[in-house]
Amino acid sequence: MCAECRTGEETHVRRDEIAAGLAEVDARIAAACRAVGRDRGEVTLIAVTKTRPAEDVRILAELGVRDIGENRDQEAAPKAAELADLPLTWHFVGQLQTNKVRSVVGYADVVHSVDRLRLVEAISREAVRQGRRVGCLLQVALDDDPARGGARPADVLELADEVALAEGVWLGGVMAVAPLGEEPAKAFARLRDIATRVQEQHPRATMVSAGMSEDLVEAIAYGATHVRVGTALLGRRKPFVR
Ligand SMILES: *Cc1c(COP(=O)(O)O)cnc(C)c1O
Repeated sequence: MCAECRTGEETHVRRDEIAAGLAEVDARIAAACRAVGRDRGEVTLIAVTKTRPAEDVRILAELGVRDIGENRDQEAAPKAAELADLPLTWHFVGQLQTNKVRSVVGYADVVHSVDRLRLVEAISREAVRQGRRVGCLLQVALDDDPARGGARPADVLELADEVALAEGVWLGGVMAVAPLGEEPAKAFARLRDIATRVQEQHPRATMVSAGMSEDLVEAIAYGATHVRVGTALLGRRKPFVR
């Protein structure tokens, strides 16, 4: 038996923990929708399972979660392979280097971190080669500082046009992480404006990926269609593996 494998009893305990986390997150999402008069069906929960074993993903799937987010290829690729029997949509939400594109395109249905032309070209080329169609969300650096990933707001529309023209990819919409040191609501209000402008040019690019455990309520108030939640579902990660 592998060192990480759980006993039957441990699996039951973990399932109960995850079910409780899921119920709580679902209730928060529902309340956030109600508060702003949105339909609960407009918001999809993406369970971010980074640093968590494949077994946790299997439990989430049994509980009805269909959308799974990962941020590191080294971890995501073997997990997705192990869970290939499940009907899951895989979202790649981490910064993506072009040398990882070949691997990521092999399992990711949607890449949330598209932030530069080189990456669009690499994903497109690889998707065509593998006969895949990959959803692309344009990650926006809401603090106008691309250092932590994301395109400058001023560059997003041009990038949207590039994705729309590229083969093997479809333009899903936009994504952002609220910057540190700013009220998330203010940042998400800017994201909503950018999303609106992208949709004026590309009406089917309706996805707005925003909101994590701490700020999903604010994100939903400002139009998030996809919230990416890890900690609130699965508990705190070990601090050294972010
Ligand atoms: C880890 C991560 C999340 C989830 O964060 P939590 O605070 O654990 O909910 C969401 N989005 C991205 C890009 C992440 O890397």
